[in-house]
Amino acid sequence: MTANSPTRARAPQVGITLDAVVVGAGFAGMYMLHRLRGLGLSALVFEAGGGVGGTWYWNRYPGARCDVESMQYSFSFSEELDQEWTWSEKYAPQPEILEYANHIADRFDLRRNIVFDTRVTAATWDEQTKCWRVETDRGDEVIAKFCIMAVGCLSAPNQPQFAGMSDFRGPIYHTGQWPQAGVDFTGLRVGVIGTGSSAIQSIPIIASQATQLTVFQRTPTWSVPAWNQELTDDYVRKIKADYPALRAKARARPTGFYFQYNLTPALQASAEEREKNYEEFWARGGLPFLGAYGDLLFEKDANDTIADFARRKIREIVKDPATADLLCPDNVFGCKRLCVDTGYFETYNLPHVKLVDVSKKPIERFAAAGIVVDGVEYPCDAIVTATGFAAMTGSFDKINIVGREGLALAEKWRAGPRTYLGLATVGFPNLFMITGPGSPSVLASMIQAIEQHVDWLADLIGHMRDIGASAIEPRLAEEDAWVEHVNEVSKVSLRSTCSSWYVGANIPGRPRVFMPYIGGFPIYVQKCNEVMNAGFDGFVLEDAKASNAAPNVRFTERWRVPLDMEVISPAAVAAKRVPVV
Ligand code: FAD
Ligand code: NAP
Repeated sequence: MTANSPTRARAPQVGITLDAVVVGAGFAGMYMLHRLRGLGLSALVFEAGGGVGGTWYWNRYPGARCDVESMQYSFSFSEELDQEWTWSEKYAPQPEILEYANHIADRFDLRRNIVFDTRVTAATWDEQTKCWRVETDRGDEVIAKFCIMAVGCLSAPNQPQFAGMSDFRGPIYHTGQWPQAGVDFTGLRVGVIGTGSSAIQSIPIIASQATQLTVFQRTPTWSVPAWNQELTDDYVRKIKADYPALRAKARARPTGFYFQYNLTPALQASAEEREKNYEEFWARGGLPFLGAYGDLLFEKDANDTIADFARRKIREIVKDPATADLLCPDNVFGCKRLCVDTGYFETYNLPHVKLVDVSKKPIERFAAAGIVVDGVEYPCDAIVTATGFAAMTGSFDKINIVGREGLALAEKWRAGPRTYLGLATVGFPNLFMITGPGSPSVLASMIQAIEQHVDWLADLIGHMRDIGASAIEPRLAEEDAWVEHVNEVSKVSLRSTCSSWYVGANIPGRPRVFMPYIGGFPIYVQKCNEVMNAGFDGFVLEDAKASNAAPNVRFTERWRVPLDMEVISPAAVAAKRVPVV
């Protein structure tokens, strides 16, 4: 089970030299370690938490669960693993996903190379040795040829500093740093700040415990019912009978996971047909609701039809018309990450649940026993800040990463992250990112995105060993072209139109840049494959003693799926307008 240990005393590791250091032991760090060991390389993982699992180690708030179906939100690299692990629910709860992460660590014997309770504070490139010096908050100082950032896209909690926070007498919990022992809100008056995915999952459960719940909402959120259910033996057996087929279909989708979808444009259907179709997709629930038509995230008029439908659903569920009005978003449907809920809107029908609008009059301050908005104090015994994350780059910002000629990554990324394929960045040789900015990452089912990156990086590292190369780094022209392409494609999607964490706009002062790659997972994978087939085109390899030709592909074969432009329709729409560089 979980290694939820308190910080363990240990002597710092100083002076050891490794092939690779990996930062983070979520799904990305664990799989990277597995692949590096498969290549026969020495590697060490540093993890700030006391156990593996990353997101699922930290986000223990009530109601936390995945919103990609568990039978797809799981590793696909081992058929034996797929067969031996059985999920209990359509959307597994956090404890079960954490148990799965621990199972991976044990099954692949990963723990012996993971150092827990240790935060990497600095990584410095040494031009002489062509190695990284990696330092931690526990006094470790190790040398490694490769430094691989598996730090997560949603791992740096955003805790806004409200006036008077230290005056508040009760506990304040951030959903992304939830106490390991859990929290019982029975008999308490609770305030929840935020209405994103974390809030939407936790609010119904907090409401079932608290005597009074006050939700402070800045922006209303689109949410679709999960219709979560226990998985029957029959359902599991049918999927396991041909799991590879499901995995292959998932890889061919822009989202990296498979669901029933409809490619026709919404505006080609009559109003009656649309209503019927939306009802059917609503009845299936979850993120696939956005698959009701092919153009929903590309054409505003089409999007208006699904937004109208979803607003009507909110008004049907929420009895008090004023509360229902407040809960109805007016931005593009699915612009911010779509939420998936169990009884969220219904919760506002409970007499002890109150919604407070802080969109025009923000939270004024915390008082000793409550939260003050517009001169009114709302009593609270405990406060939950479900205020999200400094997404995509937040965990990079916390590490002093210094590359060639003393260049700091934070300085290079001041106006927004710049990478080639979200995998590497000019000036930082042998430094790799898993699901870095500029890759599909959070716009795909993330375990798929992680696996594709890790397999690609493992083949790159294997190739460098094969040809005796000492260092690799992208070319500036290719990086610039990729950054521009990521930016151009984002403009095609309606997702670029609102102030979401995709563009860094959830946190004041961050540059507004659309960070993930929205061209779709298969198009991105094809680009990565082309780069690899051409001997890592777009990269400069140093000191290669053998030819820089097509590499020996050890792990990426399964990602070489043919591009079917019809199947990847939404991405194709974007790509038709903005060619893939
Ligand atoms: P993480 O799981 O974030 O792991 C990164 C690890 O790096 C963390 O453990 C962190 O402690 C460590 N770390 C960071 N900086 C340092 C440092 N300096 N030194 C040492 N260690 C460090 N995605 C989906 O596709 N489907 C879902 O249903 C889904 N649900 C989610 C639910 C929640 C509540 C959240 C927050 C995210 C969800 N995501 C989901 C996204 C999720 O983050 C990914 O699916 C996936 O778990 C990311 O794995 P990772 O290993 O890349 O990063
Ligand atoms: P989030 O989506 O960024 O939501 C944060 C919420 O806090 C927003 O409602 C935001 O309002 C509000 N907020 C932030 N600062 C505030 C302030 N100063 N005053 C008032 N309100 C403030 O964060 P999240 O809910 O943690 O989710 C982040 C991502 O993690 C999700 O989008 C998803 O990718 C992933 N996740 C997935 C699941 C799942 O279902 N599997 C669950 C949780 C998280 P504004 O909108 O106005 O900024």
